[in-house]
Amino acid sequence: MSREGRTDGGTADEATEGAAVVAAVEAVADRIEDERDHLTELDSAIGDADHGGNMARGWAAAADAARDLDDPDPQSVCRTVGKTLMAEVGGASGPLFGGSFVFASAELDDGVTAESAVAFAETYLQKVEDRGDARVGDQTVVDALTPAVHTFKKSIETDELPPLEALAKAVDAAERGVAFTVPIRAKKGRASYLGWRSVGHQDPGATSALYILEELLATAADALDSEVPDADATSPTIPDEEPDDAAGDGEGDAPPEDGD
Ligand code: ADP
Ligand code: MG
Repeated sequence: MSREGRTDGGTADEATEGAAVVAAVEAVADRIEDERDHLTELDSAIGDADHGGNMARGWAAAADAARDLDDPDPQSVCRTVGKTLMAEVGGASGPLFGGSFVFASAELDDGVTAESAVAFAETYLQKVEDRGDARVGDQTVVDALTPAVHTFKKSIETDELPPLEALAKAVDAAERGVAFTVPIRAKKGRASYLGWRSVGHQDPGATSALYILEELLATAADALDSEVPDADATSPTIPDEEPDDAAGDGEGDAPPEDGD
C-alpha cells in the first residue's frame, strides 16, 4: 500500500481503494435508507424522531458527493463524506458524526492498511467522545463504537488477525454494545432529558453506527473477494462484563499466571 511511486494522479492501488471506499459509502447510504423508519421509531421513543431522516439525508448526499469525486482515494472520499454529513445533517449530530469523520480521515494519508484503519477508528471514537462529552454507559453511539474500536484494535495489534476477521469481530462487539444501551439510562443527548424513562430503549445513534459497520464489513469482504467471516467477539466487549473464562483472552481478564 505504499504511495512511494505516486505522482499527482495517484497510484493504481489508490484508485482501487478509492473505488472500494465509494462502494462502501453507497452501501451505507442504501442500508440507512432501508432502516430510516426503524431509526426514526427508535428516536421517537427517546428523542425527537429525526435520526432516520438525518442519517438518510446525510448519507444519500455523501454517496452523491463521493460518486462525483474525480480521482477518489480513501482519504478524499472520507473527507468528503464527513463534510457532507456536517452540511446535510446539521444541528448537534452533524459535527458529532460528520466533523469527527473529517478529522479521522487525516489518518488515511497512506491509504487503507490494517494500521491506518485502526488509527482512523481510534481517532473517530476519540473525537466523538470529546465533542459529545460522552463515555461508555451514557446510552449513546459511544456504547457501540467503544467495544467495536477496542475489539478491532486488539484483534489487529495483539491477536494479529486478518483485517476482515478483525472487522467481523468489531461488528459483533458493536452489536453487543447496541444491546447494552437498552437497560441503561441516557446521560447525554436528548434522551437524557427523560431521566430514568430512557431505560429500556435502544439508542438510535448506536444502532445506525452498527448498520454502518455491517455495511463496511460486507463491502470489505466484497473488495477482498472473500466471505464475511464468522465472528464471536468474546473479548473485549463492554466494561464490567464478567469475562467468559473459557476464552481467557479478554482485556478484563486477570493477568495470566506464568507458572513460576
Ligand atoms: P439529535 O439528538 O440532535 O436529534 P440525532 O437524532 O440525529 O440528533 O442523533 C441522536 C443520537 O446522537 C443519539 O441516539 C446518540 O447516539 C447520539 N448522541 C446524542 N448526543 C450525544 C452526545 N452528547 N455524545 C455522543 N453521542 C450523542
Ligand atoms: Mg434526534
